[in-house]
Amino acid sequence: MKVPFLDLSLQHQALRTEALAALAATYDATRFCLGKDVEDFEKNFAATLGYPRTLGMNSGTAPLHVACMIAGFGPGDEVITTPFTFISSAWGISYTGAKPVFADIEEDTFNLDPARLAAAITPRTKGIIVVHLFGQPARMDEIMVIARQHGLFVIEDCAQAAGAHYEGVPVGLIGDAGTFSFYPTKNLGGCGEGGAFVSRRDEIFTRARQIRVHGSDRRYYHDIIGGNFRMDGFQGALLNIKLPHLAGWTARRQAIAARYFAGIKLFDTRLPGQPAYGKSVFHQFTIRHPRREALREHLAKEEVGTDLIYPVPLHLQACYAGLGAGPGSFPMAERAARTCLSLPIFPELTDAQVDHVIKSINCF
Ligand SMILES: *Cc1c(COP(=O)(O)O)cnc(C)c1O
Repeated sequence: MKVPFLDLSLQHQALRTEALAALAATYDATRFCLGKDVEDFEKNFAATLGYPRTLGMNSGTAPLHVACMIAGFGPGDEVITTPFTFISSAWGISYTGAKPVFADIEEDTFNLDPARLAAAITPRTKGIIVVHLFGQPARMDEIMVIARQHGLFVIEDCAQAAGAHYEGVPVGLIGDAGTFSFYPTKNLGGCGEGGAFVSRRDEIFTRARQIRVHGSDRRYYHDIIGGNFRMDGFQGALLNIKLPHLAGWTARRQAIAARYFAGIKLFDTRLPGQPAYGKSVFHQFTIRHPRREALREHLAKEEVGTDLIYPVPLHLQACYAGLGAGPGSFPMAERAARTCLSLPIFPELTDAQVDHVIKSINCF
Protein backbone atom coordinates (compact mmCIF):
# COMPACT_ATOMS: atom_id res chain seq x y z
CA MET A 1 0.00 0.00 0.00
CA LYS A 2 1.36 3.40 -1.04
CA VAL A 3 1.46 6.04 1.70
CA PRO A 4 2.94 9.30 0.42
CA PHE A 5 4.55 11.59 3.00
CA LEU A 6 2.23 14.37 1.82
CA ASP A 7 -0.30 14.59 -0.99
CA LEU A 8 -1.72 18.08 -1.46
CA SER A 9 -3.82 17.10 -4.48
CA LEU A 10 -6.55 15.35 -2.45
CA GLN A 11 -7.43 18.45 -0.42
CA HIS A 12 -7.26 20.71 -3.47
CA GLN A 13 -9.34 18.45 -5.70
CA ALA A 14 -12.06 18.33 -3.02
CA LEU A 15 -12.20 22.15 -2.95
CA ARG A 16 -11.64 22.68 -6.68
CA THR A 17 -15.05 23.97 -7.77
CA GLU A 18 -15.37 26.34 -4.83
CA ALA A 19 -11.77 27.52 -5.15
CA LEU A 20 -11.94 28.26 -8.86
CA ALA A 21 -15.22 30.18 -8.43
CA ALA A 22 -13.64 32.29 -5.68
CA LEU A 23 -10.56 32.95 -7.79
CA ALA A 24 -12.75 33.98 -10.72
CA ALA A 25 -14.68 36.43 -8.53
CA THR A 26 -11.45 37.99 -7.26
CA TYR A 27 -10.08 38.13 -10.80
CA ASP A 28 -13.19 39.79 -12.16
CA ALA A 29 -13.19 42.34 -9.35
CA THR A 30 -9.42 42.94 -9.88
CA ARG A 31 -8.83 42.67 -6.12
CA PHE A 32 -5.17 41.72 -6.46
CA CYS A 33 -3.35 43.24 -3.46
CA LEU A 34 -5.03 43.27 -0.03
CA GLY A 35 -8.69 44.26 -0.69
CA LYS A 36 -11.93 42.64 0.39
CA ASP A 37 -10.80 38.99 0.16
CA VAL A 38 -7.86 39.65 2.44
CA GLU A 39 -9.99 41.74 4.83
CA ASP A 40 -12.52 38.91 5.00
CA PHE A 41 -9.75 36.43 5.61
CA GLU A 42 -8.33 38.56 8.42
CA LYS A 43 -11.75 38.72 10.09
CA ASN A 44 -12.38 35.01 9.60
CA PHE A 45 -8.94 33.96 10.83
CA ALA A 46 -9.32 36.13 13.94
CA ALA A 47 -12.87 34.93 14.66
CA THR A 48 -12.17 31.25 13.98
CA LEU A 49 -8.94 30.96 15.93
CA GLY A 50 -9.55 33.46 18.72
CA TYR A 51 -7.38 36.47 17.78
CA PRO A 52 -8.51 40.04 18.40
CA ARG A 53 -7.20 41.01 14.95
CA THR A 54 -5.03 39.64 12.13
CA LEU A 55 -2.93 41.10 9.32
CA GLY A 56 -2.52 39.07 6.13
CA MET A 57 1.02 39.09 4.77
CA ASN A 58 2.87 37.63 1.79
CA SER A 59 4.81 34.81 3.51
CA GLY A 60 5.60 33.43 6.95
CA THR A 61 9.01 35.06 6.78
CA ALA A 62 7.40 38.50 6.30
CA PRO A 63 5.68 38.80 9.71
CA LEU A 64 8.86 37.55 11.42
CA HIS A 65 10.79 40.30 9.65
CA VAL A 66 8.14 42.89 10.57
CA ALA A 67 8.09 41.75 14.21
CA CYS A 68 11.90 42.08 14.44
CA MET A 69 11.65 45.61 12.97
CA ILE A 70 9.00 46.57 15.54
CA ALA A 71 11.05 45.06 18.38
CA GLY A 72 13.81 47.44 17.35
CA PHE A 73 16.49 44.77 17.10
CA GLY A 74 19.70 46.06 15.54
CA PRO A 75 23.49 45.77 15.36
CA GLY A 76 25.02 44.84 18.71
CA ASP A 77 21.81 43.16 19.93
CA GLU A 78 21.41 39.47 20.57
CA VAL A 79 18.16 37.61 19.99
CA ILE A 80 17.74 34.07 21.25
CA THR A 81 15.99 31.32 19.30
CA THR A 82 16.03 27.57 18.88
CA PRO A 83 18.60 25.90 16.63
CA PHE A 84 16.09 23.19 15.70
CA THR A 85 13.62 24.90 13.38
CA PHE A 86 13.19 26.06 9.80
CA ILE A 87 15.88 28.62 8.93
CA SER A 88 13.30 31.39 8.53
CA SER A 89 12.80 31.60 12.32
CA ALA A 90 16.22 33.31 12.46
CA TRP A 91 16.10 35.39 9.25
CA GLY A 92 14.33 38.38 10.80
CA ILE A 93 17.07 38.67 13.43
CA SER A 94 19.74 38.73 10.72
CA TYR A 95 17.77 41.18 8.51
CA THR A 96 17.80 43.75 11.33
CA GLY A 97 21.55 43.35 11.86
CA ALA A 98 21.16 41.70 15.25
CA LYS A 99 22.92 38.45 16.13
CA PRO A 100 21.03 35.16 16.39
CA VAL A 101 21.99 33.31 19.57
CA PHE A 102 20.81 29.76 19.98
CA ALA A 103 19.64 27.93 23.08
CA ASP A 104 19.20 24.17 23.09
CA ILE A 105 15.89 22.29 22.97
CA GLU A 106 14.05 19.84 25.20
CA GLU A 107 14.16 16.41 23.64
CA ASP A 108 10.51 15.48 24.02
CA THR A 109 8.87 18.54 22.48
CA PHE A 110 11.73 19.65 20.19
CA ASN A 111 11.10 23.18 21.53
CA LEU A 112 13.24 25.75 23.42
CA ASP A 113 14.30 24.54 26.85
CA PRO A 114 13.55 27.41 29.29
CA ALA A 115 16.59 26.59 31.49
CA ARG A 116 18.94 26.73 28.52
CA LEU A 117 17.22 29.88 27.30
CA ALA A 118 17.85 31.56 30.68
CA ALA A 119 21.50 30.50 30.55
CA ALA A 120 21.95 32.10 27.11
CA ILE A 121 20.92 35.60 28.25
CA THR A 122 23.60 38.31 28.30
CA PRO A 123 23.42 42.10 28.81
CA ARG A 124 23.03 42.37 24.99
CA THR A 125 19.97 40.14 24.77
CA LYS A 126 16.96 42.06 23.39
CA GLY A 127 14.44 39.40 22.50
CA ILE A 128 13.38 35.80 22.04
CA ILE A 129 11.87 34.06 19.03
CA VAL A 130 9.93 31.08 20.32
CA VAL A 131 8.94 28.44 17.75
CA HIS A 132 5.96 26.12 18.32
CA LEU A 133 7.58 23.41 16.24
CA PHE A 134 5.59 20.66 14.52
CA GLY A 135 2.38 22.17 15.98
CA GLN A 136 3.45 21.61 19.59
CA PRO A 137 3.28 24.72 21.81
CA ALA A 138 6.50 25.60 23.65
CA ARG A 139 6.67 26.19 27.42
CA MET A 140 5.39 29.76 27.34
CA ASP A 141 4.89 30.29 31.09
CA GLU A 142 8.54 29.69 31.93
CA ILE A 143 9.69 31.58 28.84
CA MET A 144 7.54 34.65 29.65
CA VAL A 145 8.84 34.75 33.24
CA ILE A 146 12.41 34.90 31.89
CA ALA A 147 11.40 37.50 29.27
CA ARG A 148 9.78 39.75 31.89
CA GLN A 149 12.75 39.50 34.25
CA HIS A 150 15.04 40.77 31.49
CA GLY A 151 12.64 43.07 29.59
CA LEU A 152 12.80 41.02 26.38
CA PHE A 153 10.52 41.27 23.33
CA VAL A 154 8.93 37.87 22.61
CA ILE A 155 7.96 36.78 19.10
CA GLU A 156 6.05 33.51 18.67
CA ASP A 157 6.71 31.75 15.36
CA CYS A 158 3.42 29.88 14.88
CA ALA A 159 4.12 28.90 11.25
CA GLN A 160 3.41 25.25 12.09
CA ALA A 161 0.84 25.80 14.82
CA ALA A 162 -2.30 27.48 13.42
CA GLY A 163 -5.12 26.39 15.73
CA ALA A 164 -2.89 25.41 18.68
CA HIS A 165 -3.43 26.68 22.24
CA TYR A 166 -1.19 27.06 25.25
CA GLU A 167 -3.21 26.64 28.49
CA GLY A 168 -6.30 27.63 26.52
CA VAL A 169 -4.74 30.75 24.93
CA PRO A 170 -4.23 30.71 21.14
CA VAL A 171 -0.51 30.62 20.33
CA GLY A 172 0.76 34.02 19.20
CA LEU A 173 -1.17 35.96 21.89
CA ILE A 174 1.15 35.18 24.81
CA GLY A 175 4.25 36.99 23.61
CA ASP A 176 4.37 40.46 22.03
CA ALA A 177 3.73 39.29 18.45
CA GLY A 178 2.76 36.06 16.70
CA THR A 179 3.47 35.01 13.13
CA PHE A 180 1.97 32.42 10.75
CA SER A 181 2.86 30.91 7.39
CA PHE A 182 0.38 29.65 4.81
CA TYR A 183 2.99 28.01 2.62
CA PRO A 184 1.11 25.17 0.87
CA THR A 185 2.55 22.38 3.04
CA LYS A 186 1.59 23.99 6.37
CA ASN A 187 -1.36 22.72 8.39
CA LEU A 188 -3.29 25.74 7.05
CA GLY A 189 -1.76 26.05 3.59
CA GLY A 190 -2.64 28.45 0.81
CA CYS A 191 -2.08 28.06 -2.94
CA GLY A 192 1.14 30.02 -3.11
CA GLU A 193 2.86 32.29 -0.60
CA GLY A 194 1.12 33.69 2.46
CA GLY A 195 1.42 34.53 6.13
CA ALA A 196 -0.15 36.49 8.97
CA PHE A 197 0.73 38.70 11.91
CA VAL A 198 -1.15 38.85 15.22
CA SER A 199 -0.58 40.73 18.46
CA ARG A 200 -2.53 41.24 21.65
CA ARG A 201 -0.90 44.70 21.87
CA ASP A 202 -2.66 47.50 19.95
CA GLU A 203 0.39 49.66 19.37
CA ILE A 204 2.35 46.72 17.93
CA PHE A 205 -0.52 45.69 15.68
CA THR A 206 -0.96 49.25 14.38
CA ARG A 207 2.74 49.55 13.72
CA ALA A 208 2.77 46.23 11.81
CA ARG A 209 -0.13 47.40 9.65
CA GLN A 210 1.80 50.52 8.73
CA ILE A 211 5.06 48.66 8.03
CA ARG A 212 3.17 46.18 5.82
CA VAL A 213 2.35 48.94 3.33
CA HIS A 214 5.65 50.81 2.98
CA GLY A 215 5.43 52.50 6.37
CA SER A 216 2.43 54.42 5.18
CA ASP A 217 -0.94 55.32 6.74
CA ARG A 218 -1.80 57.81 4.00
CA ARG A 219 -0.90 57.11 0.39
CA TYR A 220 2.52 58.53 -0.57
CA TYR A 221 3.30 59.73 2.97
CA HIS A 222 5.81 57.45 4.70
CA ASP A 223 6.19 58.18 8.41
CA ILE A 224 8.34 55.14 9.22
CA ILE A 225 10.48 52.73 7.26
CA GLY A 226 8.34 49.88 5.99
CA GLY A 227 8.27 47.44 3.13
CA ASN A 228 5.92 45.42 0.96
CA PHE A 229 4.49 42.66 3.12
CA ARG A 230 0.95 42.61 1.63
CA MET A 231 -1.06 39.44 1.13
CA ASP A 232 -2.49 39.10 -2.39
CA GLY A 233 -6.19 38.86 -3.07
CA PHE A 234 -6.11 35.33 -4.53
CA GLN A 235 -4.52 33.98 -1.34
CA GLY A 236 -7.15 35.69 0.80
CA ALA A 237 -9.94 34.22 -1.35
CA LEU A 238 -8.48 30.69 -1.20
CA LEU A 239 -7.73 30.79 2.50
CA ASN A 240 -11.32 31.89 3.18
CA ILE A 241 -12.43 28.62 1.60
CA LYS A 242 -9.97 26.55 3.58
CA LEU A 243 -10.36 28.13 7.00
CA PRO A 244 -13.74 26.53 7.86
CA HIS A 245 -12.09 23.12 7.36
CA LEU A 246 -9.14 23.72 9.67
CA ALA A 247 -10.80 22.44 12.86
CA GLY A 248 -11.81 19.20 11.13
CA TRP A 249 -8.36 18.77 9.58
CA THR A 250 -6.74 19.32 12.98
CA ALA A 251 -9.04 16.77 14.61
CA ARG A 252 -8.09 14.27 11.90
CA ARG A 253 -4.36 14.96 12.41
CA GLN A 254 -4.83 14.41 16.15
CA ALA A 255 -6.73 11.17 15.50
CA ILE A 256 -3.93 9.91 13.25
CA ALA A 257 -1.41 10.87 15.94
CA ALA A 258 -3.44 8.94 18.54
CA ARG A 259 -3.30 5.91 16.24
CA TYR A 260 0.49 6.26 15.97
CA PHE A 261 0.85 6.65 19.76
CA ALA A 262 -1.21 3.52 20.38
CA GLY A 263 0.26 1.42 17.58
CA ILE A 264 3.99 2.10 17.27
CA LYS A 265 5.86 -0.44 19.39
CA LEU A 266 9.29 -0.55 17.73
CA PHE A 267 12.08 -0.93 20.29
CA ASP A 268 14.25 2.18 20.78
CA THR A 269 11.71 4.50 19.15
CA ARG A 270 10.92 7.78 20.91
CA LEU A 271 7.53 9.23 20.24
CA PRO A 272 6.81 12.97 20.60
CA GLY A 273 6.13 14.22 24.13
CA GLN A 274 2.55 15.19 25.00
CA PRO A 275 2.80 17.89 27.69
CA ALA A 276 -0.43 18.73 29.56
CA TYR A 277 -0.18 22.52 28.98
CA GLY A 278 -0.93 22.44 25.25
CA LYS A 279 -2.00 19.80 22.75
CA SER A 280 -0.15 19.61 19.47
CA VAL A 281 -2.04 20.26 16.23
CA PHE A 282 0.43 17.80 14.65
CA HIS A 283 1.70 19.74 11.70
CA GLN A 284 4.27 16.93 11.81
CA PHE A 285 4.49 13.63 13.67
CA THR A 286 8.20 13.22 14.28
CA ILE A 287 9.70 10.16 15.92
CA ARG A 288 13.32 9.51 16.81
CA HIS A 289 15.25 6.33 16.19
CA PRO A 290 18.98 5.67 16.53
CA ARG A 291 19.03 3.91 13.14
CA ARG A 292 16.93 6.51 11.39
CA GLU A 293 18.48 6.02 7.91
CA ALA A 294 17.95 2.26 7.92
CA LEU A 295 14.40 2.68 9.20
CA ARG A 296 13.74 5.25 6.50
CA GLU A 297 14.99 2.89 3.76
CA HIS A 298 12.90 0.05 5.17
CA LEU A 299 9.80 2.27 5.11
CA ALA A 300 10.56 3.37 1.54
CA LYS A 301 10.56 -0.31 0.51
CA GLU A 302 7.13 -0.62 2.14
CA GLU A 303 6.06 2.41 0.02
CA VAL A 304 5.82 4.68 3.07
CA GLY A 305 7.08 8.22 2.45
CA THR A 306 8.96 9.99 5.25
CA ASP A 307 10.95 13.19 5.58
CA LEU A 308 13.88 14.47 7.64
CA ILE A 309 12.67 17.63 9.35
CA TYR A 310 15.30 18.95 10.01
CA PRO A 311 18.59 17.26 9.04
CA VAL A 312 20.86 20.23 9.90
CA PRO A 313 20.37 22.52 12.93
CA LEU A 314 20.68 26.25 12.33
CA HIS A 315 24.04 26.72 14.08
CA LEU A 316 25.60 24.20 11.66
CA GLN A 317 24.20 25.85 8.50
CA ALA A 318 26.86 27.40 6.29
CA CYS A 319 25.15 30.80 6.45
CA TYR A 320 25.61 30.90 10.22
CA ALA A 321 29.15 29.48 10.37
CA GLY A 322 30.30 33.00 11.26
CA LEU A 323 28.47 32.78 14.60
CA GLY A 324 31.15 30.34 15.70
CA ALA A 325 28.91 27.66 17.25
CA GLY A 326 30.46 24.46 15.93
CA PRO A 327 29.42 20.82 16.28
CA GLY A 328 28.73 19.88 19.90
CA SER A 329 27.39 23.34 20.83
CA PHE A 330 23.77 22.19 21.13
CA PRO A 331 23.76 18.42 21.76
CA MET A 332 19.97 18.00 22.01
CA ALA A 333 19.31 19.79 18.72
CA GLU A 334 22.13 17.89 17.04
CA ARG A 335 20.81 14.57 18.30
CA ALA A 336 17.31 15.47 17.13
CA ALA A 337 18.69 16.32 13.68
CA ARG A 338 20.53 12.96 13.59
CA THR A 339 17.67 10.75 14.73
CA CYS A 340 14.41 12.46 13.72
CA LEU A 341 12.04 10.95 11.18
CA SER A 342 8.74 12.58 10.25
CA LEU A 343 5.85 10.27 9.34
CA PRO A 344 2.88 10.96 7.03
CA ILE A 345 0.14 12.85 8.94
CA PHE A 346 -1.94 14.83 6.43
CA PRO A 347 -5.71 14.75 7.14
CA GLU A 348 -6.71 12.86 3.98
CA LEU A 349 -4.79 9.70 5.01
CA THR A 350 -7.05 6.69 5.54
CA ASP A 351 -6.93 4.54 8.68
CA ALA A 352 -5.72 1.66 6.51
CA GLN A 353 -2.78 3.78 5.34
CA VAL A 354 -1.94 4.81 8.91
CA ASP A 355 -2.09 1.16 9.99
CA HIS A 356 0.23 0.24 7.14
CA VAL A 357 2.75 2.83 8.41
CA ILE A 358 2.48 1.40 11.94
CA LYS A 359 2.82 -2.21 10.80
CA SER A 360 5.81 -1.33 8.61
CA ILE A 361 7.57 0.43 11.49
CA ASN A 362 6.88 -2.37 13.95
CA CYS A 363 8.35 -5.03 11.66
CA PHE A 364 11.60 -3.11 11.11
C1 LIG B 1 7.45 27.67 7.04
C2 LIG B 1 8.07 28.30 8.21
C3 LIG B 1 8.45 29.65 8.21
C4 LIG B 1 8.46 30.54 7.00
O1 LIG B 1 7.38 30.57 6.23
P1 LIG B 1 7.44 30.98 4.67
O2 LIG B 1 5.98 31.14 4.40
O3 LIG B 1 8.05 29.84 3.94
O4 LIG B 1 8.19 32.23 4.56
C5 LIG B 1 8.94 30.20 9.39
N1 LIG B 1 9.09 29.45 10.49
C6 LIG B 1 8.78 28.15 10.53
C7 LIG B 1 8.96 27.39 11.79
C8 LIG B 1 8.27 27.52 9.38
O5 LIG B 1 7.97 26.22 9.43
